[in-house]
Amino acid sequence: MTIKILHLYPKNMNLYGDHGNVLAIRRRLEWRGIDVEVIHHDPGDELPEDIDIIFGGGGQDSGQTVVEDDLRIITPKLKELIENGTPALVICGLYQLFGNYFETVEGQKLEGTHILDINTIGGPVRLIGNVLIDTTEFGQVVGYENHSGLTYLGDGVKPLGTVITGDGNNGKDKTEGVRYKNCIGTYLHGPILPKNPKVTDFLISKAIENKTGEAPQLKELDDTIELRAHNVSSKRPR
Ligand code: GLN
Repeated sequence: MTIKILHLYPKNMNLYGDHGNVLAIRRRLEWRGIDVEVIHHDPGDELPEDIDIIFGGGGQDSGQTVVEDDLRIITPKLKELIENGTPALVICGLYQLFGNYFETVEGQKLEGTHILDINTIGGPVRLIGNVLIDTTEFGQVVGYENHSGLTYLGDGVKPLGTVITGDGNNGKDKTEGVRYKNCIGTYLHGPILPKNPKVTDFLISKAIENKTGEAPQLKELDDTIELRAHNVSSKRPR
């Protein structure tokens, strides 16, 4: 079995170590003896047929403008995959663009994929710093945020978690990120996955389940270092 990870726009959307997220998925699969293939998708590329996990990172407003047209072209296929339960993690810039729209602080409206029922509007200040959230599925999740976009959730989605430290989606309603089907949207960079192995294993489990038709019993890994990083980060002040 080979798990294929689609990495969306690695050149334009890769802030604060987002490549480390793909590396974390790769390593946790390899440590369990499962083959991995990472497929980079840049503007103009054809999407591959088989995709088991979708990953998209963060980027500046300018990077989002570069990928917007291509994203519109591949939206039907991405939508079909997400609706069919393909696990996905989209962070910050691509989290915003997986929603309905992102209106920048200059008033430029970037059309999103409408896969996630969220709307984002550029705010006057940047929300920057360490973040700790509480989630029902993964316990406490740690990360780092840096965005000016303020995201508001529609009726079709649930938040990923509740903010303990930081601003989250909009600095007001204490929500952070989004959960929809097996897609996670979040503002958490860090990169998020190495420090939150439960989130990584969620993506891996769902990918294997979709491929084999059975929820796997994932082999336990020694997470001493990952959990130490998680614990140190969770105690950091804003
Ligand atoms: N450009 C977006 C914002 O500032 C996304 C930033 C990011 O991906 N870190 O809101």
